[in-house]
Amino acid sequence: MSIKELQGARAEIEKKLRQYTGKAVFLSELDVFALACGCNGITANVRGLSIDDVDVFKDVFVSHFASICEMLDVEPTFLFARLIPATNEVAALNARNLCDKCYVELVGEKGQVRPRPDMFVLHFKKR
Ligand SMILES: [Zn+2]
Repeated sequence: MSIKELQGARAEIEKKLRQYTGKAVFLSELDVFALACGCNGITANVRGLSIDDVDVFKDVFVSHFASICEMLDVEPTFLFARLIPATNEVAALNARNLCDKCYVELVGEKGQVRPRPDMFVLHFKKR
């Protein structure tokens, strides 16, 4: 995906979020990241989106994010919304391909996701 296409993807996600929620959602930034640990993925920083909106349109968001990830060669094994602490407001939507270490940290031995308190899990692919 070129930088122009990434720009287009930002606009597209924003449009979809507005369409589904009927709110003036602002997607300030769409980032592609590669971490030192081996995780990679995309982050969309948003304003004006609540966790209830995300919960209601969960399936739509997951499938839309997954298609953008595909264009970037990111395997979205873990999708979550990050909340502004102590609020219902979403700070960012995140699609991540977990490295082995982070997978173990997040999932643990029982095979159950143990998200951080500021994470709302939208999709998780068990190994
Ligand atoms: Zn990692």
